[in-house]
Amino acid sequence: MFLENYPLSKVTSLGVGGPADFFLQPTSTNDVARAQRFAIERELPLTIIGYGTNLLVRDGGIRGVVLQIAHPFAEAKVEGMILTAQAGCLLSSLSKLALHRHLSGLEFAVGIPGGLGGATFMNAGAYGGEVGPLIRSIQFVRDGQLGTWSRDEFYFSYRSSRLQSEAEGAIVTQVELELKPGAPRDILQRMNDFQNQRRSKQPLEYPSAGSTFKRPPGYYVGPLIEQAGLKGLRMGGAQVSTKHAGFITRIGEAKARDFLDLIAKIQDTILQEFGVALEPEIRILGED
Ligand SMILES: Cc1cc2nc3c(=O)[nH]c(=O)nc-3n(C[C@H](O)[C@H](O)[C@H](O)COP(=O)(O)OP(=O)(O)OC[C@H]3O[C@@H](n4cnc5c(N)ncnc54)[C@H](O)[C@@H]3O)c2cc1C
Repeated sequence: MFLENYPLSKVTSLGVGGPADFFLQPTSTNDVARAQRFAIERELPLTIIGYGTNLLVRDGGIRGVVLQIAHPFAEAKVEGMILTAQAGCLLSSLSKLALHRHLSGLEFAVGIPGGLGGATFMNAGAYGGEVGPLIRSIQFVRDGQLGTWSRDEFYFSYRSSRLQSEAEGAIVTQVELELKPGAPRDILQRMNDFQNQRRSKQPLEYPSAGSTFKRPPGYYVGPLIEQAGLKGLRMGGAQVSTKHAGFITRIGEAKARDFLDLIAKIQDTILQEFGVALEPEIRILGED
């Protein structure tokens, strides 16, 4: 059942953003295909979100249909070294499942808060690991029909993948990941190390959407922003984190506009001072 005028601030980690005209959480691939056909037949735009941990939804919200592929669509199984998971599985759960099955490869993902669909779309990664290289196959729905890409058909690069090409319009429903055997003690040790690094460096105590910008070749974003004197800069309820300048956090009540203004200010300043064009890593969706 579609929910109408659903506030997307409820399903994004930043907690800002206007409503979706129609909102649905599918529980099966059939639901996804049906919703896509519904949108096509009525000529409504269709937007897919996962756990909303990499999103900034503008204050006017999103027109048409928003499908949130998350908890009700989250089954996973392991056969040999292949972990097959629905797109709504949380990365942290999959990382722990791999540990319990003595499989290595997903340690980097233990602290990434989103789901497998979003992580595949974004080619999410951390601490030298990425989702892309683990992918054996992807199942998706496109134009209301099921399809599959094998490893060779799915290209990806730093925080980018075939799914980001506008022409594709594919909704990920299931992903097969190929892992390697590993000693549980070593796997757990790596997971704990990564979690400790994350807790010590990232502002996890405040809402955010992770790293705001992609890393430009030859630079680190946090130090650039810090050198420009923007660490701690606040616009409305959006603030450049005082702990890690690569993050923008929500401090109390905020509008999406506060984040957009702060992002623009950072981009202008870094371009003027260092000649570096910062590209958002977070996905900005919807209308003002
Ligand atoms: C505190 C914090 C730390 C973070 N750390 C990291 C990190 O270390 N590394 C990293 O890479 N990211 C990080 N992130 C960002 C984010 O968690 C990842 O990008 C995550 O993989 C996004 O998943 P999601 O389910 O939240 O996707 P969403 O944010 O909901 O969506 C992201 C994009 O994927 C698309 N999408 C989602 N599901 C599907 C689907 N089923 N089919 C097709 N397209 C889909 C959406 O349209 C959107 O464009 C962090 C975020 C936070 C808040």
